[in-house]
Amino acid sequence: METHARIVGRLAPSPTGIQHVGNARTYLVAWLSARKQNGRVILRIEDIDSPRIKPGAAESVCEDLRWLGLDWDVGPIVQTTRLPFFEAALERLKADERVYPCTCTRGDIERAASAPHLEHEGPVYPGTCAHRRAADANALMDRPFAWRMRVGDETITYEDGFQGVVTIKLSELGGDFVVWKSAGTPAYQLAVVVDDAEQGVTEVIRGDDLIPSTPRQIVLYRALELTPPRFTHVPLVVGPDGRRLAKRHGDARLSSLRAVGVSRETLLGLLAWSCGWLERIEPIDLDELLGRFDLSTIPKTPFVLTPALLAAIGAPV
Ligand code: GLU
Ligand code: ZN
Repeated sequence: METHARIVGRLAPSPTGIQHVGNARTYLVAWLSARKQNGRVILRIEDIDSPRIKPGAAESVCEDLRWLGLDWDVGPIVQTTRLPFFEAALERLKADERVYPCTCTRGDIERAASAPHLEHEGPVYPGTCAHRRAADANALMDRPFAWRMRVGDETITYEDGFQGVVTIKLSELGGDFVVWKSAGTPAYQLAVVVDDAEQGVTEVIRGDDLIPSTPRQIVLYRALELTPPRFTHVPLVVGPDGRRLAKRHGDARLSSLRAVGVSRETLLGLLAWSCGWLERIEPIDLDELLGRFDLSTIPKTPFVLTPALLAAIGAPV
């Protein structure tokens, strides 16, 4: 018999307070993919991005996932309890001169930037501090600084499980990127790589808003001599105006749907229909969805959640 390494997937919510239909769709795809391959599922609470974290949000994430029926084998692992792992990775990057201390403010970077850059990714870092060596941090005394990863002119190509081959030039993506914030905490890019690697994640399935993060993460995997997972980016759920799901689009929070008595199977039916696994919206359970799961039927365009669809599953609109 052919043997395969066991698949390990993960759900990695940021506990920012609202888990909505869009989050649920991505978690569902990630969970079904892992379970269909007899894989394990890790739940990791990504609470590193502290200003956006709402108290009690981690508990509500778990409640939402339980309501959806998406279980996990490991976790919840709380990212802020894992600082020593992130610090060790930073030390390694420093020792290898892959990072340098950057004292630029956001304003400095905006003023100095002129190169074209990808939309929504902010200006390309102009390299103001790239002449520094890691040890120069000692001479910065009380000046706040971030640690920035040197990327140079690399072009990263990877095979996305949904998008196919993706090629991105790092210098157009923002150039040297922050791995450790001046506030003294790891940046998302570093934390996610260290966690996914240390937790043995083999498959990362997430929203396609994170595609621009993937080349940066691949650079970190290489620098830290870690094996990257397979990356799969699925389209997001948007409102009728094409923008990311938000309050003005109606109340698509999972807690609200639950509160008005929408059943798990009804919501799963909507999500399954949106992924091409059901011909019409009708209640369905996870067992049946395991048989129907197929990445290739998911539309390449975002799923537009209209008020009519919310009404169709019994949500007040
Ligand atoms: N915590 C991130 C989010 O909820 C997901 C990060 C990831 O999947 O890599 O947007
Ligand atoms: Zn700088």
